[in-house]
Amino acid sequence: MQLQPTASHFINGAYVEDTAGAPIEIIYPATGEVIGTVHAATPAIVDQALESAKVGQKVWAAMTGRERGRIMSRAAAMIMERNHELSVLETYDTGKPYQETIAVDATSGADALEYFGGLAGSLTGEHIPLGEDWVYTVREPLGVCVGIGAWNYPTQIACWKGAPALACGNAMVFKPSETTPMCALKVAEILHEAGVPAGVYNVIQGMGEVGAALVNDTRVDKVSLTGSVSTGKKVYAAAASHMKHVTMELGGKSPLIIFDDADVENAVGGAILGNFYSSGQVCSNGTRVFVQKGIKEKFLARLAERLDTAVIGDPLDEATSFGPMVSKRQMDIVLGYMAKGQEEGARLVYGGKRLERDGFYLEPTVFADVTDDMTIAREEIFGPVMSVLDFDTEEEVIARANDTEYGLSAGVFTSDLSRGHRVIGQLEAGSCFINSYNDAPVEAPFGGVKNSGVGRENSKEAINHYSQVKSVYVRMGDVEAPY
Ligand code: NAD
Repeated sequence: MQLQPTASHFINGAYVEDTAGAPIEIIYPATGEVIGTVHAATPAIVDQALESAKVGQKVWAAMTGRERGRIMSRAAAMIMERNHELSVLETYDTGKPYQETIAVDATSGADALEYFGGLAGSLTGEHIPLGEDWVYTVREPLGVCVGIGAWNYPTQIACWKGAPALACGNAMVFKPSETTPMCALKVAEILHEAGVPAGVYNVIQGMGEVGAALVNDTRVDKVSLTGSVSTGKKVYAAAASHMKHVTMELGGKSPLIIFDDADVENAVGGAILGNFYSSGQVCSNGTRVFVQKGIKEKFLARLAERLDTAVIGDPLDEATSFGPMVSKRQMDIVLGYMAKGQEEGARLVYGGKRLERDGFYLEPTVFADVTDDMTIAREEIFGPVMSVLDFDTEEEVIARANDTEYGLSAGVFTSDLSRGHRVIGQLEAGSCFINSYNDAPVEAPFGGVKNSGVGRENSKEAINHYSQVKSVYVRMGDVEAPY
């Protein structure tokens, strides 16, 4: 099987190759086969992308918001028409089951383009009357924005960053994760076909060094990263030294709290969605599942029954509901955590092993009797490993849930809605759920607090992170100066 992209980069409205850059193999996670190769951007490619973005941004910003929005809406419709093809590509890039990719990847990219395309014509300033004088404000683009992606949602991340950036009249240079280089190229191709002018949305490949070269370039006005906390700290520091705007969507170790009075079936469903979707490779996952003691055994028994019905296999088979890890490296990291859980005394109640087949498959894994100090309860694993922790009281569980450096998400399952709101109100997290988990509609702000990040993606909030406000004081009378 070969899925060689047309070329490694998409710059100034066209595919561009430069084989002088280090080769990056594209590996299909379900088999371990090399299905293509791209080349990391050389300094010449980085330069070409930034120059074309600078020129393209001026053309794009000179159009009206409604014209920009119409093009973005057209791109959203094209993505929906090509959903099957894009979902198969996403499955090859990430290994995620087609059953998932057809429902949430290209479709959520289209949602972002449609939503922000719809907003583009309404991005206005305000009029502030001051007696006979007044101030008016203008919402202006930032200029050239850089997007740097993680490997778990390559199409979605390329669109979640691109759509608000473009709606506000910016240009973007996007660097996908080196693990999943293919999908963002298709996004660029479709945007261009829909009518986005050359240079407005560019994609270049590479490892961390290419990301760092972009972040440190003075032609760049804003950086939006989706990645780990350690990368986030480096990128934030580099951006700060140039006073660039940032959005940081980083990792998490989110609490999912299940009270005795919760509907067990729904709570198990939420815990499955919050731990095993995308084989657990989701930043907002609720991987610390706090279960109140009275419901614990019932919860664990029903969880195991439902996990038995997961269909693990070829991700391109529509029946498959659980696929491989994205890479051997990620699989090995997760196997390390599975071993650590057992060494530190957690009770393995489900899974715990690599599957004996080609590709990077792990079993969905559940540990019970996990305590707060165990490594699997403290560190982000980014794989299909659920830690179940017991608790007695509301007060106790809130304190324990907040005892983490992270603050991306949090969820509560209870049939007492007052308690649901009371508990969520005290949890230190940016994206929260009551009697649900991991929904991410484009209309809702998404992002974390504490070490999980800065800024918000999606919703009208994102507009504030891709634009700046100019204020203009207008005097109608004479200027009174003291001398
Ligand atoms: P990573 O931090 O290793 O890499 C992320 C991206 O940053 C990659 O494109 C990488 O090439 C680039 N990069 C690495 N070093 C860099 C540097 N010094 N300067 C600039 N760019 C650099 O993360 P990953 O392994 O690709 O993804 C997994 C992590 O991403 C997890 O921690 C996960 O929680 C997080 N994540 C967060 C969200 C969110 O929205 N909050 C979503 C998905 C993933």
